[in-house]
Amino acid sequence: GVPGHPVLRARGLTVSYGGFTALDGVDLDLAAGRITAVVGPNGAGKSTLFHCLAGTLRPDAGRIAVGGRDVTRLPAHARTRLGVARTFQRLAVFPTLTVAENVRVGAEQGHVVDPAAVERALRLLRLDGAVRARPAAGLPTGTLRRVELARALAGSPRVLLLDEPAAGLDTDEVAALARVLGALAADGTALLVVEHDLDLVAGLADTVHVMTAGRIVSSGPAGEVLGRPAGPGGAAPGRPGA
Ligand code: ADP
Ligand code: MG
Repeated sequence: GVPGHPVLRARGLTVSYGGFTALDGVDLDLAAGRITAVVGPNGAGKSTLFHCLAGTLRPDAGRIAVGGRDVTRLPAHARTRLGVARTFQRLAVFPTLTVAENVRVGAEQGHVVDPAAVERALRLLRLDGAVRARPAAGLPTGTLRRVELARALAGSPRVLLLDEPAAGLDTDEVAALARVLGALAADGTALLVVEHDLDLVAGLADTVHVMTAGRIVSSGPAGEVLGRPAGPGGAAPGRPGA
C-alpha cells in the first residue's frame, strides 16, 4: 500500500468480561508502511484488543474497518482472506507438518494466492536448506517463531498483527525480527506490534500507544512516548523518515 494510507480503522472498541471492562472505547488506526505498537502492563487489555482486531473476539461495542469495509462481524478466517494476518502469542504451528508445508498452509488461507510469496516468506525469515523439510515439532522456539511469521506472510497480507513477537527470543533473534518487520513496513505492510519488550518497540515503532486498564492513555512517536532514544533497530534499512 501507499505509505501512510489508512488500512485498518478501529473505533470505540469495548469488551466486558462479566462485569469487568477489559477494553474501554479504544480507537486505533493502522497505516500502510507504518509500525504501530501497543504497550502497557499485564492486564491492560492488549491481547483483548488484539483478539478484536484479529476477529477471534467480538467486541461488545465499536467498529472495525479494513480497507473501508466493515469487518466487525466477520470471523477471523474471513478477515485473513481480506488481508489481515496474525501470529500467536503461544506458538501455533502444525507440529507434524514440515516447515515448508506450514508456510504453504498460510498461503492457502491468505489474501492473495501467490506461489512466489511462499518462497519470498521462507527466504525473508531465513528458512533455507534442510530446515524446510523438517517437521515443525522439536524445532527451537526461535525457528518456530520464524515459521509462524513466514506462514502469516505467505498470504501477502495488507495488515500484520503480532502479539508479543519477541517473547522467548534471544538478543540476536530480536534484532533479526526487527530487521524483518522493518523490511515488511518498507514494503507497504501495516504492522501492529503488541509488546511488553520496550526496547524492541523503541527501536522499531513509528507510533506507540500506551494502554492502561483498557484505555489508550498516551500516544505518539516512539521516542516521545517512551522517553528514550531509538535503539539499534531504529534506523531500519530502507525506511527513510521512519
Ligand atoms: P494484556 O494482554 O494487556 O495482559 P488482556 O487483554 O489479556 O491484557 O487482559 C485484560 C484484562 O481482562 C485482565 O484483567 C484479564 O484478567 C481480563 N481477561 C482477559 N481475558 C479474560 C477472559 N476470557 N475472561 C475474563 N477476564 C479476562
Ligand atoms: Mg497479552
